[in-house]
Amino acid sequence: MNLKKKVLSVSLSGLMAISAISVVSSPVSAVGNGPGAGNGSIQTSILHTYDSMVDYLKTQDAKQEAMQLEIIGQTVKGRDIYLAKYISNPDNPTILFLTQQHGNEQLTTEGALEFIKHLGTNKTKGILENVNILVIPMLNADGAMGDVNFSLDNYLADGGRHLTRYNANEIDLNREHDKPIGSMQAEVKALYENVFEKYKIDYMIDLHHQGTLSETEGELVSGSILHPTNSNVDADVLERSKKLGSVVYHSIENTGWGHIGKYDGGSGQNIGRNGAAVRYGISTLLFEMRGMSDHYIESYALGQKSNGYLIKQTITTLDSTVRAIADGSIENADVSFWDTLPTQKSRSGEESDE
Ligand SMILES: [Zn+2]
Repeated sequence: MNLKKKVLSVSLSGLMAISAISVVSSPVSAVGNGPGAGNGSIQTSILHTYDSMVDYLKTQDAKQEAMQLEIIGQTVKGRDIYLAKYISNPDNPTILFLTQQHGNEQLTTEGALEFIKHLGTNKTKGILENVNILVIPMLNADGAMGDVNFSLDNYLADGGRHLTRYNANEIDLNREHDKPIGSMQAEVKALYENVFEKYKIDYMIDLHHQGTLSETEGELVSGSILHPTNSNVDADVLERSKKLGSVVYHSIENTGWGHIGKYDGGSGQNIGRNGAAVRYGISTLLFEMRGMSDHYIESYALGQKSNGYLIKQTITTLDSTVRAIADGSIENADVSFWDTLPTQKSRSGEESDE
């Protein structure tokens, strides 16, 4: 192994420690008002692989009394899909955090894993008595590992693997949510059969990454959010979704380094944000963070210089929402910001995700 490889294989926790310092020391530039794609090489070796994620979850499960690790099904290629559960009292309000419906959007998974570790420490002492937390940290493990039945030769990332939006059958898992459960792709079917059907879920945040060039008011966004927009969503469910968004918006804006826009998303029930709200009355929020972990279009993928603050943005999102649900303050969240929150636009004119 040469020196370069050793440097690139630095552990994620080590990288996060370095990134945390840089976030504090350069709050505004961290968001990256510079050239869109010029954020360093696109390097996947710092990301958890599916196997290292499973090891991590098993280690936390062994350490944490309150945590239960469950397998909810298998991907097309047969990988077990994991759910980390914290259910202290079935009567508590329950929130689900879902990451990587799209396999090339992995920093939210890295943040979710770090958050799981926090739940086993004093950082979140007392919270678990008043809120139930479900985390699915990598729904589309085949896409995340590039183990798919189509070519990824034109994808850009270095680091031993490619990551793709689609599942192994080249299906977009976030367009499956209006189907009968029996007709869904394996990964979404597992989500419906063994999570949505099995637990009474009050809130869900569906975590994604978009391109790097979205902006509002002339400033690149660190992320964009959206509540359900399908006309069949119950008014109360929508109102509580907006409150969930309010907690996230204000916690990120208060950090000083975050800049949040409104996502310009579709109203179809085939999208998770809408489908779960219509079918199960779950108050949902889409969070689209900046920059994908791999893509064939350069402006979509984010170099590793910005990884630290995007992981931090995920942790802040998860931490602030479980606290607001646990202490009931989410009930009083001010939703009026939604009326003036600018809808993001793309500098390249071609970016979208969800
Ligand atoms: Zn996505």
